[in-house]
Amino acid sequence: MTALEHDPRPPAMASETELREDLAAAFRWAAHLDMNEGVANHFSVAVDDGGERFLINPRGMHFSQARASELAMMDTRRLGEDPLAHGVDPTAWVLHGHLHERVPRARCVLHTHMPYATALACLRDFEFLMLDQNACRFYDRIAYDRDYAGMALDPDEGARVAAMLDGGRDVLFLGNHGVIVIGRSVAEAFDDLYYLECAARLQVLALSTGRELSLIDDATASMVCEQWLSYPEGSELHFRAVRDALDAMGADYRR
Ligand SMILES: [Zn+2]
Repeated sequence: MTALEHDPRPPAMASETELREDLAAAFRWAAHLDMNEGVANHFSVAVDDGGERFLINPRGMHFSQARASELAMMDTRRLGEDPLAHGVDPTAWVLHGHLHERVPRARCVLHTHMPYATALACLRDFEFLMLDQNACRFYDRIAYDRDYAGMALDPDEGARVAAMLDGGRDVLFLGNHGVIVIGRSVAEAFDDLYYLECAARLQVLALSTGRELSLIDDATASMVCEQWLSYPEGSELHFRAVRDALDAMGADYRR
């Protein structure tokens, strides 16, 4: 395999300590980038290959204060229990629990209402535009849920949403709500989340001009997507740099 071939194999499962630190760093940097909202929105990561047990933000935790040791450990075998008794938001329980249970390749699940992507999710019949290099990264990787049905408090809603990512897509636009990004590691999912919002911001800006858009054709967009996905260590280097930046700021996310 050459350096520029996409490796379909999932990366080896990291230790629980590494996963806790990575997820805490993802929360901190998402807050730094203004992707969070109050104490809502949730990130999670599985600690086993089958996705039975996963780490998630505890109820009421601000993204900017995330610490490795304070993340909640959940178990999909206990999905029938009261989430409040486990210190976890009911919507997180429903969405993330069903996703980890049903889609094991979704080791990391990031859900935000980040403003630019969410603005696009509120446009009737919107499909992500192949408008720039960042957008091409998501060519044929996005699913769309156009049936907003209120907060995800019902197990059936969790199962319905999880089914939409069961077919191999990595991003779900939740109409009138936000986005879900899944990945094989925290680094991979966070890198996608970051570039999704970059591309969405550009689309909102370009659409706001009212001028005709110059779109990239399907063949080129598909080729650029493959270049992104096979770029050597792209997401790992980005996430390592994020952690280095947090360390330089003296952030105690590892604690
Ligand atoms: Zn939400």
